[in-house]
Amino acid sequence: MDLSRFPRRRYTQGATPLEFLPHFTKALRATCLEGKSPNVWIKRDDMLGLTPGGNKTRKLEFLVADALAKGADTLITCGAPQSNHCRATLSASIKEGMKCRFVIEERLPHSYREDASGNNFLFRLMGVEAITVVPAGTNMLEAMQKVAGDLAKEGRKGYIVPGGGSNAIGGLGYVACAQELQQQFFEQGVQIDKIVVGSGSSGTHGGLLAGFLGNHIHIPIIGIGVSRDPADQDPLVHQEAQAVADLLGLGITVPREAVVSHGDWWRPKYSVPNQAMVEAVQMLARTEAILLDPVYTGKIMAGLIGLARKGVFGKDENVLFIHTGGASSLHAYEAEVLGLKELSA
Ligand SMILES: *Cc1c(COP(=O)(O)O)cnc(C)c1O
Repeated sequence: MDLSRFPRRRYTQGATPLEFLPHFTKALRATCLEGKSPNVWIKRDDMLGLTPGGNKTRKLEFLVADALAKGADTLITCGAPQSNHCRATLSASIKEGMKCRFVIEERLPHSYREDASGNNFLFRLMGVEAITVVPAGTNMLEAMQKVAGDLAKEGRKGYIVPGGGSNAIGGLGYVACAQELQQQFFEQGVQIDKIVVGSGSSGTHGGLLAGFLGNHIHIPIIGIGVSRDPADQDPLVHQEAQAVADLLGLGITVPREAVVSHGDWWRPKYSVPNQAMVEAVQMLARTEAILLDPVYTGKIMAGLIGLARKGVFGKDENVLFIHTGGASSLHAYEAEVLGLKELSA
């Protein structure tokens, strides 16, 4: 499939590694039913470019190219207080010599603290131009449009990057990832049986699915919800995959049954730690020296571990975990991930 017709900036050199996780696979096997434990592989999208990488980098390559084509001088986006997406967007704006403004939604009251560690610290270090903090439930698009209006009054031009970078253009980033994976499977002689990926604002899950359909890759994709149960999440992913497929001109209807997600690992709330996340973060750090994060990848890996223990994967199936990044928020949750705080299961 030809992606070269879509404008794209490059923030990463080459492909991110596709690797087998030998020690993690062995540790997981010791806790699974006999003969039901998968071989776990990882796609290191935490090693993408920008400061540091993660899945938002792939989406921003296409979104920022669009912003530049439209003559924008400022990127406007939104997210939660520890948003990786805001941090990556700020980083892209700096690389392009643009300015950047955020609207931060306090999904938990008083959860935004200017002096917080993790991504908040990076917002300040990299010099975000302005942050508007709004309460949970605010219409984020309207809030960002207001910022764009303020800029227009000064003769500037803002470009609104949607939450998580998840629209049809952003989803192209994960179509590019699907093509990168296809090439790596071929070159490395790897046969993957199932893929586990995080499912939030849905550009990653939906974009990957559209990319698989467009490239005739028939590996099932299992989404792990980070903020919603399947009844709410799956329609979002389906809509995103369809929008990306339409932008690509695939001329297909995305089959509803191709969208699969699980909602058992995100509670008690989006971004609030749980015990299964702590186990996953510690396990990958201690077996492979790879850092997950408390908000997304820790819960997503907890999903992979949980599904493995339920016997969902066949013996020696090759399961690929897409590492979508996020470790820069770890320092805002040190006591939690070290197991020093009482958490829900
Ligand atoms: C944003 C994010 C996700 C979720 O990806 P979506 O495309 O929003 O579904 C997963 N992992 C990390 C680390 C993220 O920052």
